[in-house]
Amino acid sequence: MSSIPVPVNIWQDGDDVLRIKWSDGHDSVYSTGFLRKVCPCAECDGFRTQKPGLRIITGPVVTSVKAVSAKQVGRYGVAFVWSDGHSHGIYSYTSLRQFCQCERCVEGKEEG
Ligand SMILES: [Zn+2]
Ligand SMILES: [Zn+2]
Repeated sequence: MSSIPVPVNIWQDGDDVLRIKWSDGHDSVYSTGFLRKVCPCAECDGFRTQKPGLRIITGPVVTSVKAVSAKQVGRYGVAFVWSDGHSHGIYSYTSLRQFCQCERCVEGKEEG
């Protein structure tokens, strides 16, 4: 494996779509609501992994959220600031490629 692709451009495309252009030419498409839901920060992880018996926390309600900004973190990830004020999650490039919802990747996953 050579070095992993890195984002060369990240932009909000309309109300609920985020696009990333990668250094290997790949064009990624994401639903912003989806990306916000899979936020990898400890806080959101806690919402997802809560077990019975623990006090019930209502997960973040994500209806329509936009990426306000995206900041490169080190050489491995991107931190988004969301329009709901959340900004803790760092999305690694690897996970962003796994989450990619473009036609090519979606088809590949179905066949794979
Ligand atoms: Zn989070
Ligand atoms: Zn893709």
